[in-house]
Amino acid sequence: MTSETGPSRPGASWTGASWTGVPAEHPFGLHTLPYGVFTDAAHPQPRIGVAVGEAILDLTAASAALLPEHASLFSGGSLDALLAAGPASWSAIRAALRRWLSDERHAAVLTPLLVPATEVKMQLPFTVADYVDFYSCEQHVTNVAQILRPGQPALPANWRHLPASYHGRAGTVVVSGTPVRRPSGQRRHPDGTVTFGPSTALDFEAEVGFVVGTPSTLGRAVPLSGFAEHVFGVCLVNDWSARDIQFWESVPLGPMLGKSFATSISPWVVPLAALDAARIHPPARDPRPLPYLDDTGAEPWGLDITLQVRLNEMLISRPLFRRMYWTAPQQLAHLTSNGASLRTGDLFASGTVSGAAPGERGCLIELSWNGATPLRLADGSTRSFLADGDEVSITATAPGPAGSTLGLGEVHGRIRPA
Ligand code: CA
Repeated sequence: MTSETGPSRPGASWTGASWTGVPAEHPFGLHTLPYGVFTDAAHPQPRIGVAVGEAILDLTAASAALLPEHASLFSGGSLDALLAAGPASWSAIRAALRRWLSDERHAAVLTPLLVPATEVKMQLPFTVADYVDFYSCEQHVTNVAQILRPGQPALPANWRHLPASYHGRAGTVVVSGTPVRRPSGQRRHPDGTVTFGPSTALDFEAEVGFVVGTPSTLGRAVPLSGFAEHVFGVCLVNDWSARDIQFWESVPLGPMLGKSFATSISPWVVPLAALDAARIHPPARDPRPLPYLDDTGAEPWGLDITLQVRLNEMLISRPLFRRMYWTAPQQLAHLTSNGASLRTGDLFASGTVSGAAPGERGCLIELSWNGATPLRLADGSTRSFLADGDEVSITATAPGPAGSTLGLGEVHGRIRPA
């Protein structure tokens, strides 16, 4: 099932050991090697970095020294050129990184290029082209339906036939750490009056995002089997949501201003190749999807990712990505099934990752049941929705090779007053 083929495939004896001293079992050990963009005091211009434990390898400088044939991919201050380069380049560069970091002969060149992560500022890693948010977690859809429309069917008629989604706002996707100002907008009160003002139902949504590298041709659908040819990697997403604005505006055309004020992503993009050991079979589908979405017998693309959500550093939920009904290859196949083309930097998010148990729910409206049972935090305070000053952090882990655990980094953001 591995996609670590050819030159990047580690031999049976490859342990992930490194002369840098980073343990193989570190979340950002040599099994992970995520890409990001950073600035620091010495380099005000953005540079490409690879996380190695608690350090960042300056890949803009390292590639110029050790991989000149690929150095142009790392000189533009964003991951855009790397994303566009395609799977053969992704694989060759990952193999080179593993060689450099495990073979001590490269230590003299690379040691000066390892920057402590505490000394950098992470930047938005790539230019977000189109942003689409799916709605692929059955338990999230069910919970929200029970909250908003008790007694009515939970799943819309189309939900088990296609991965539902809406088109979001690419220009307001921000990197982790960017403060989020409480949005203002229209809402309808229980007595029917309509007012404009700061949202009183600000929420987060814990999601996993997929980053498109190779573009596709207008008019040609990308089949399930084309997923790894086009998608570079994975990041974490917080789809901030103002429920009062969202629910008033959404009928009949779906989310708009209740979501478009900000979407936060993690600064590190983990390549798909790092997730080989996390791949599992997705849940059974009933009814069987139409042929272009039918992954029966195909390479499985369920992912055994566990998210952790913290509010003001207190753990409030551990949503399980492995239960998602639709996989990312199905989402991509559906997204392009009408011939719509992909661009480098397209971002599509999974939809809120949630579960049946209270400790698995991926947003506050579920955790507080729309305020009916406010969430009690470890410090004794309660929340129905986010308060000014609250900080939300989403982290995630996944199984790596040989019993290791990979980290997917963190996306966090703090609420500022309106
Ligand atoms: Ca969402």
